[in-house]
This record gives sequence, C-alpha cells and structure tokens, in this order.
Amino acid sequence: MSDQAEAQRLRHPRPGITHDNRFFWEGLRSRELRIQRCAACHQLQHPPLPLCRACHGLELGWVRASGRGVIHSFVVAHHPPVPPFSYPNVIVLVELEEGTRLVSRLAGLDPDDVAIGLPVVVDFEVVDGDLALHLFRPAAG
Ligand SMILES: [Zn+2]
Repeated sequence: MSDQAEAQRLRHPRPGITHDNRFFWEGLRSRELRIQRCAACHQLQHPPLPLCRACHGLELGWVRASGRGVIHSFVVAHHPPVPPFSYPNVIVLVELEEGTRLVSRLAGLDPDDVAIGLPVVVDFEVVDGDLALHLFRPAAG
C-alpha cells in the first residue's frame, strides 16, 4: 500500500464491528443494505442490537433492503470540517420503504434543494479493501 493510500485509510474513521453488526458491514462490501430482523416477530430494527426491541427475542437475522426510501429528516453540516468528509455534508435520516430508518449521507443534490419527503435510493462507496459505506442519492424520475 502506498503512503498516500495508507494515510487515506488511517484518516477515515472505522466502525466498531461486533458479532451483532458484522452482517451489516459485510453487506455494504457486497453492495447490499442489510437490515436486522427478528426471527420470532419479524420486527426490523437499525442499528443492529443483540436482541429484538419489540419482543426481546435473541434469534436475529437480516433482510436485504430495497435501498429505496424517503428523507425523513436532515441536517447540512458546514462547520467544523472534519477530514476526510467533504463539506457541506448533507446528513440524512432515511425512512426505508421496509419501514425502518437509518442515518446516512446524501450526495448528488445541491444542499439547498434537500427536502423532507424527497425519494432517495441507496448507493455504496468503497473506502478501501476493508470498508464500504452507504450513502443515498435522489431517486431517478
Ligand atoms: Zn422480536
């Protein structure tokens, strides 16, 4: 790995990967948005937890989300700039069509045009060989 690539890798924050959320991060590397689902009551939840929030069941699996949703809420971060993120940084709370929400980043739209209810679709960003991230873009049409 070049010094520049190593610097880039070290600069990007790493997620805390545990037994409970490993499927999620592995899914992103496979360009899949995976959402935890309780095997007993089928409740979806994100972020992943060791047990079901609804029924406290311990048997948890996951489903592959469609990646489609709408912006439920958002904030446009301007300051302070924190490498390696670019600014203004549009941080969105996306309501997935499966009915759960997750925090992500929005790309492909002027920050002044971001609106609650805007349809979005997931995309993936490969940071390096160990890490891929999700982000959202405005849905076509
Ligand atoms: Zn449950």
